[in-house]
Amino acid sequence: MRFWQQLRWKIIAGHMLVVLVGVTALSLASELLFLRSVPTQLQNQLTALTQSDSPQIIQETTTIVLDTLYRDAVSRSLLVAASGAILTGLLTSIFLAREILRPLLEIASSSRRIASGHYNERVAVPPSTELAMVATNFNQMAEALEHVEKQRVALLSNVTHELRTPLTGLEGYLEGLIDGLFDSSPETFAQMSQEVRRLRRLVDDLQSLSRVEAGQVSLQIDDFDLIDVVDQVMRQLKPQAMDKCLDLVIEHQQPHILTHADPDRTAQVIVNLVGNAIRYTPEAGCVTVRVTTTESMASVIVEDDGIGIPAESLSLIFERFYRVDHSRARSSGGSGIGLTISRHLAWAMGGDLTATSPGLDQGSTFIFTLPLAN
Ligand code: ADP
Repeated sequence: MRFWQQLRWKIIAGHMLVVLVGVTALSLASELLFLRSVPTQLQNQLTALTQSDSPQIIQETTTIVLDTLYRDAVSRSLLVAASGAILTGLLTSIFLAREILRPLLEIASSSRRIASGHYNERVAVPPSTELAMVATNFNQMAEALEHVEKQRVALLSNVTHELRTPLTGLEGYLEGLIDGLFDSSPETFAQMSQEVRRLRRLVDDLQSLSRVEAGQVSLQIDDFDLIDVVDQVMRQLKPQAMDKCLDLVIEHQQPHILTHADPDRTAQVIVNLVGNAIRYTPEAGCVTVRVTTTESMASVIVEDDGIGIPAESLSLIFERFYRVDHSRARSSGGSGIGLTISRHLAWAMGGDLTATSPGLDQGSTFIFTLPLAN
């Protein structure tokens, strides 16, 4: 940070200049006007007065003349000095005011425009360090607002899109029934019921998403055995794995791992991870769930030898509605919200959720960590 770019030094230098010019002008003016002119004028007066014969009058006149001359010289010196100081002060303050006010006024008018919805508004960064900091921070804030606004618009369009799919399905079945194209058979109603379930799941997911993103999810934090929860989830998902002839394996070295978190939310995250692993692993594949510990954390590692995730998608799969392969994921019922909710839940419980994959068709690994109980 160069000191001459700092506003504080500019202000100090400006005012010092005013004082310096004032003092110099005052000294010079006193020297020139008072010290030089007074003795000469005084001499003239005294010469004129020598012709008078009253010593008292001479003394009085001398005092008056000296006093008048002194006052006159000082006031003239001050006038010159003050004019110089005022002029310099005026020029420096005009310069400083312009330098400070121009960016501030620009920020004021830009913030008004942002408030009225123009989120692409940015201000020019001035050279003064402090003002440059204000302008840069303002631009960063505007960028963040623009990002949030883009996310809001994207969310709205994603929600509409996701709702449209099951609604179109339902509409098709209803029209088919009305036109007599479909029989009112149990199969038709089963298909309609599936679309309704899809709608219900989407609405439930959206509600959970809005809660976790707003940090409003209620957690029942307690000490519980993580191995127990993983076992329950494995039992719950076993039929799904068997349908695809998948090997569902659980590995852990300790019989019990006491964790400090919400057991139901932990189960929810593991269901999402193991459910995904089953969904994105082709028949006869293998899904392994390993439970390990480090010094202060427990990890649930869900590994599969399925379709894998390309490197460019690894950081995106935790964003709402993101799916690597839209058609494949949608046909299998995924809305792309599950991992977003899971990651927020992991964070809320003091843990984390990350993913790795060597690439497409090379399997994926999800690591879910939670704090150990003390
Ligand atoms: P979805 O309901 O679509 O599965 P998720 O948020 O759970 O939503 O997952 C987001 C996307 O991440 C999925 O659509 C899929 O493309 C990818 N994904 C998640 N888990 C796996 C996995 N085990 N293997 C491959 N891809 C996965």
